[in-house]
Amino acid sequence: MIQSTKSILKKHFGYDNFRPKQEEIINSIIDNKDTVVLMPTGGGKSICFQIPALYKSGIALVISPLISLMKDQVEALRSNGIPAAYYNSTQSSDQSNNVIRKAQAGELKLLYMSPETLVSTANSWLHTIDLSMVAVDEAHCASMWGHDFRPEYKQLKHFREKLRNIPFVALTATADKTTRNDIIKQIGLKNPQIFISSFDRPNLSLDVRPNVKKKDKIKEIRAFISSRPNDCGIIYCLSRKGTEEMAKELKSFGFDAKAYHAGIPADKRSKVQEDFINDRSKIICATIAFGMGIDKSNVRWVIHNNLPKNIESFYQEIGRAGRDGIDSKTILYYNLRDIMVLSQFARKSELKDILIEKLNRMQQYAEATSCRRRLLLSYFGEHLDKNCGNCDVCKNPPQRIEGTVIAQKALSAIYRLNQNVGSTMLINVLRGSHNSDLLAKGYQNVKTFGAGKDISFNDWQQYLAQFLNLGLVEIAYDESFTLKLTQFGIDVLYGKMNIALTKPLDRKAIAAESKKKKSKKSGHYNLSPNEALYEELRELRKELAALEKVPAYIIFHDKTLKEISATKPKTKEALLSVQGISEVKFEKYGEALLLLMNSKSTKKKDTYKETLQLYLDGLTPDEIADARGIKVDTIYSHFCKLFEDGKPVDLKEYVKDFEIDAIKKAKAQIKDTSALRPYFDFFDGKLSYGKIRMGLVLIGND
Ligand code: ADP
Ligand code: ZN
Repeated sequence: MIQSTKSILKKHFGYDNFRPKQEEIINSIIDNKDTVVLMPTGGGKSICFQIPALYKSGIALVISPLISLMKDQVEALRSNGIPAAYYNSTQSSDQSNNVIRKAQAGELKLLYMSPETLVSTANSWLHTIDLSMVAVDEAHCASMWGHDFRPEYKQLKHFREKLRNIPFVALTATADKTTRNDIIKQIGLKNPQIFISSFDRPNLSLDVRPNVKKKDKIKEIRAFISSRPNDCGIIYCLSRKGTEEMAKELKSFGFDAKAYHAGIPADKRSKVQEDFINDRSKIICATIAFGMGIDKSNVRWVIHNNLPKNIESFYQEIGRAGRDGIDSKTILYYNLRDIMVLSQFARKSELKDILIEKLNRMQQYAEATSCRRRLLLSYFGEHLDKNCGNCDVCKNPPQRIEGTVIAQKALSAIYRLNQNVGSTMLINVLRGSHNSDLLAKGYQNVKTFGAGKDISFNDWQQYLAQFLNLGLVEIAYDESFTLKLTQFGIDVLYGKMNIALTKPLDRKAIAAESKKKKSKKSGHYNLSPNEALYEELRELRKELAALEKVPAYIIFHDKTLKEISATKPKTKEALLSVQGISEVKFEKYGEALLLLMNSKSTKKKDTYKETLQLYLDGLTPDEIADARGIKVDTIYSHFCKLFEDGKPVDLKEYVKDFEIDAIKKAKAQIKDTSALRPYFDFFDGKLSYGKIRMGLVLIGND
């Protein structure tokens, strides 16, 4: 009996519905048509060829250039009970002979291979197996126009010629129109059906933070990470040194952060990567070297410590967050210095014009005053018809102000300083600073000295970025980054033209606002009764992963665990209706899950965890008691238990030293010290049970 593609989706992958375009793509392949698939990272490309592979008789050959990804995909397939294998240069001859034997015996449904290996096997044993189709992953590697050309992909064309009767599918996440057409030509696809999915990733929030001082940036990043202690994330830095510094800084505050860059020895580097993939470490501070071939679905945030050099890289890097579709955060920090450094790089290259143009587009994105997602997608030729509501511009729309007078102050100062100063000195002059360098140069005598006192240094920086963007001034990269007036700038200076500016963002106000919102929300959001269960499910997954020696997300995606913790399935049917639980997964893990879901003994542990979570979120004992609807003394008793379990609860915050002393004295006088009541009576009820309990714990620890 032929199964429907939808029943294959449910049975083998545990999903109820196809995502947009997946079904059409699958049908095109089943109809034996050559097919081109353009879908963003995380869009769900794999299923597009995996389902036809299961549907058709024979073996699907998958060409993939990334060996680590190959291994991952094969593991994921096997975990769903699908017979798959890979064949590449990392295997022993025993292992590869075994794969060949299985392929020849038709015991596989999918066979993954690197392009190098294809070159050497195409004329030997590959003839002898019954292929149903060929999927070419990362197909942009076939084109010199793409960003990652691989000469071995050239062989695919000959291969296509030989195998006339089976469909070829090319899949990629990055290809503009030129590259796309070239891929078709290079692989020799015949009248392919082309499917282009939206590149929008609405679950990624977009946030840009300009000109934050280094010290404040670290503070913001720390606060950000602390507020999501269980989440994994990546911090991209411009330089190797930057990654080391960031990791060190975070580690000094007790965060589990590791550096990753091409200068680290290969074995250590792959350990860092493996630990991250397996949820053993949470934070990676990396250069752009990190990420290729990482198929981790639960990266919850990506921070750019510096401006990336173009929008393609930026989009690819933030795209590593939230591949499972769950809301994830991205933050881009940048300052004028980044732009200068990158410009200098670009100017040294042979491809100068292109690189500078790309950098300009990146800068425009960073300085955008309208919906950032619309801008981002329009760069890739896609048009959203409304604002996204999930970027910082949509959330805090900038206010426009009359900017001519402000600009004139700066432009006049630049003019009077003979267009011979950089941005820092300019701002110091405008703000009437008595910095020694300034005084030594006699700039305090310039007429505009102090003309911009009323505007903060940070706001001036934001204005200056806008002046650059508007084209009022330029930076002379070859003259120590001094600022020069453009013709437009001169027109504004002489009042021939007016300009509008965007009111600088008050970051402190925004931070305070979002904190307020968060604590208001915490009733639902932090306290959702699922949180503790979710943590337990993660623990269980970790144990299962360790047993099977596979990464945790191969067992279940976060999204699946979230759904379980929200819907609390207690029966086989209920579990099978959870997205991501296939039949095979139910057979393997259903029992453990049902046991966990149906056991009551977890209750007690939950309550401590919930209290701890709220405590770490910064709530006071009264607020925690309120939020949880239990007595504050009970919260104090939780604190004691948590403290004794070695959790970071500071009891001394709640019992004063003199109270501890009093409790000590009481202890010496009371006959029955095994209960709390005698203490309570001893103090005539003036010291609460909670305080007594904490005091005793602290004394016990002396
Ligand atoms: P890509 O190769 O395009 O980067 P993947 O094929 O790895 O993306 O898919 C990304 C995630 O989306 C995976 O976790 C996958 O299981 C999930 N996924 C794919 N198709 C569906 C679907 N129809 N329903 C739910 N989840 C899906
Ligand atoms: Zn927006």
